[in-house]
Amino acid sequence: MVLQSGDDRKVAVIGLDSVPPEYMFSKLLSKLPNIKRMYERGLHGTLVSCDPPITVPAWMVMMTGKNPGKLGIYGFRHRKGHSYKDGYIVNSMHVKEETVWQALARKGKRSIVLGVPPGYPPRSVQNCNIVSCFITPSMDKVFTYPAELKSEILASSNGEYIFDVTFRTENRDAIKKELFEMTEKRFDVAEYLAKNKPWDFFIMHEIGFDRLHHAFWKFFDPTHPKYVAGNQYEHLDEEYYEMVDQRIGKLVDSFGEDCITFVVSDHGSKGMRGAFCVNQWLQKEGYLSFKTPPSGIVDIEKADIDWAKTKAWGWGGYYARIFFNVKGREPNGIIDPKDLPREEKMLEEKFNSIRDDKGKKMNNLVFEPDKLYGTALGDKPDLMVYFGDLDWRSAGTVGHDSLYLFENDTGPDDSVHSMNGIFLMYDPKRNLGGKELHNLNIEDIAPTLLEMYGANVPNDGIDGKVLEEVINA
Ligand SMILES: [Zn+2]
Repeated sequence: MVLQSGDDRKVAVIGLDSVPPEYMFSKLLSKLPNIKRMYERGLHGTLVSCDPPITVPAWMVMMTGKNPGKLGIYGFRHRKGHSYKDGYIVNSMHVKEETVWQALARKGKRSIVLGVPPGYPPRSVQNCNIVSCFITPSMDKVFTYPAELKSEILASSNGEYIFDVTFRTENRDAIKKELFEMTEKRFDVAEYLAKNKPWDFFIMHEIGFDRLHHAFWKFFDPTHPKYVAGNQYEHLDEEYYEMVDQRIGKLVDSFGEDCITFVVSDHGSKGMRGAFCVNQWLQKEGYLSFKTPPSGIVDIEKADIDWAKTKAWGWGGYYARIFFNVKGREPNGIIDPKDLPREEKMLEEKFNSIRDDKGKKMNNLVFEPDKLYGTALGDKPDLMVYFGDLDWRSAGTVGHDSLYLFENDTGPDDSVHSMNGIFLMYDPKRNLGGKELHNLNIEDIAPTLLEMYGANVPNDGIDGKVLEEVINA
């Protein structure tokens, strides 16, 4: 529906990182009374993520309606220009496109923005109360806009606010404890802000689901190869989802009858099959050479690469970023720029023929950023590769005995990201019958919200579409 001027109605978005429809709308739905009520009376669907389906850039794709190429953001960490070793972590200042709350601020609308990544440092936006996100380095920093909001945040969460948990460790009891504490505090702050600050638009982000999935997936998913029946964390998914369900119920009640609530996630999660050692494979295929062979397992940035004999190397993560060593572009480039398209094609074919540890062809996907996005700005890779439909991570480290690892190379982690996130819309004043919507994409959320507020959807290359079924509901 479209909010009329003079209307008291408003919209709140509850962003739950990494929640797959298979869990929230299926496996656990019967245990989640608040979500179930919203699901049965509202509209829901699968929200398809962006490529790559990673937290940064996904929330900014959702909140700008622009794809990662237009944002120039391809993951958390970026290579600095064409340097071999220098990189940087993406922060809020790298986002140049207008977010929903910035567009609404121009119309005099007031927003609350809690933890939407990348949200550090907190940007100053008129009419907004902003709290930064899980990339915030420490509580000592200024993490709110306006700056004086910080003391209120600390007071509303018992003097301590938790941005993130340390999750790639074996101390699972510690992760569990911190995870619940962090999320409870986030919802304390959300309730405080919703009740005490004026707003027309509210958005919050909770990273806890993502950490729960990465740290505990093998314990609660019976289809995971490492699942052991009867283990002590077997029902932790249920426990955590139930806690959040209660907090969502309370929060949505506090929004009042005039608020339409969206519950969304930026991508889904699934069990990790393994990690594929992309750089060792490139070495085997003759693309990458070392002056001194790696002794032990080392990061690719720390390996002694013989650049005069290296055509390409890659980065690890949920997907592989591949860089070619191009003459005149990289410091010691060897590929003639005119040969680059041919080299890319050849390597693409090789990636497509990779087989898994059982000898079965992996279902790999290879993208060239310019073709994938139309426009690919910023520090983009030459190729992007998904191994086995993202069931396999990309391991960037070298010095392993095999091309296939069954543990993540950067610390304990048993889940990977999937393309399917969730979309739920609930209006306490109307029963919309629990209808399922189809063809929902993450970049559609921003234009749909703007349309609801009667703000003009910008005609500046926005990739998302207005979801007419939401508007006309
Ligand atoms: Zn995420």
